[in-house]
Amino acid sequence: MNTLCERLIIVSLIIIILPAIAMSGGAQESALPKVVVVTTGGTIAMKYDPVTGGVVPAVSGKDLIAAVPGLAKIARIETCEFSNIDSSQMTPEMWRRLSAKVQQILEREDVKGVVVTHGTDTIAEGAFFLETTLVSTKPVVFVGAMRSASELSPDGPANIYNAVLQVCAAEAQTWGVTVTMNQFINSARHVRKDETTNVQTFDSGEYGFLGYIVADRVIPFNTVWLKQKLPLPDSLPRVPYITTFAGDDGSLIRYVVDRGAKGLVVEGVGAGNVNKDVFAAIEYALAKAVPVVVASRVRRGGVYALYGDTGGGSSLVKAGAFLAGDLSPYKARLLLMIALAQPGMTKARLRTLF
Ligand code: ASP
Repeated sequence: MNTLCERLIIVSLIIIILPAIAMSGGAQESALPKVVVVTTGGTIAMKYDPVTGGVVPAVSGKDLIAAVPGLAKIARIETCEFSNIDSSQMTPEMWRRLSAKVQQILEREDVKGVVVTHGTDTIAEGAFFLETTLVSTKPVVFVGAMRSASELSPDGPANIYNAVLQVCAAEAQTWGVTVTMNQFINSARHVRKDETTNVQTFDSGEYGFLGYIVADRVIPFNTVWLKQKLPLPDSLPRVPYITTFAGDDGSLIRYVVDRGAKGLVVEGVGAGNVNKDVFAAIEYALAKAVPVVVASRVRRGGVYALYGDTGGGSSLVKAGAFLAGDLSPYKARLLLMIALAQPGMTKARLRTLF
């Protein structure tokens, strides 16, 4: 009799306690921040393919997340597959659509921030495009990998873990869009790829890292010193980017102007200088009302109105060209495209951007 009674008590306790335990686990889980991982492709989502003899897009968004141990302990993850391509195939139009998608996700109250997985070849441009056009200031962390999922010690899982950690970290809420790889956090404005085959490839030149992720913590070093915001346009104009070299006769510039370029970025030398023939070609573009931004092939130090003789930065500004300042030529190109797509954009307003 006693035994039956004891059994009944035990069974009743199990019926009452088990759901309570399960519920408290559920409550804990829903207290975790929600992070949406938007996947676009890149090496992070690639595997070796014996047919082509190289790595190719192979891993779905869900599988990418499943390969990251411990993620469920720091956030509730939702995935959204945008594309699965090598980032050499990315276009400004795709970043425009990505920006609209990410903005839509960030507007959700239940979302803490977004992680975008992206190929590293053009991740710096993608991050800069979103930084310029997103309205939401919630954290967006771009992340990729230098080693594919089928290599020895792929870097993707740790990079994704750190990116999610960063989105959730109190210390990392004001940076806007960053590129975070190999524990280092870079601003979208200054980040650049510096190595083609090494995991420590991204840095921010003389502007420095924003912070570092170690032992499940974000350690901030810097704030972002310049953010430029413009509304996301419906379409983007054609803006070529042309480099110059010793003996350049400027014919490529004249060619793209004659072919209907709406703006032009010229990669000059040094602090933003071009030779006399290129200067004349830039004057040709300006005379046809094609705005020209001059950047530099030198990676550090920026472009300024320092030299006064024909083709020097100062003479270019006097002729009506813009200087890219601290922006790389390819980011200056995106900024010019976004700016020229704004209704009623004026020369004076362009001057405030460059
Ligand atoms: N080619 C690859 C890409 O940009 C490189 C990488 O992801 O690391 O898509």
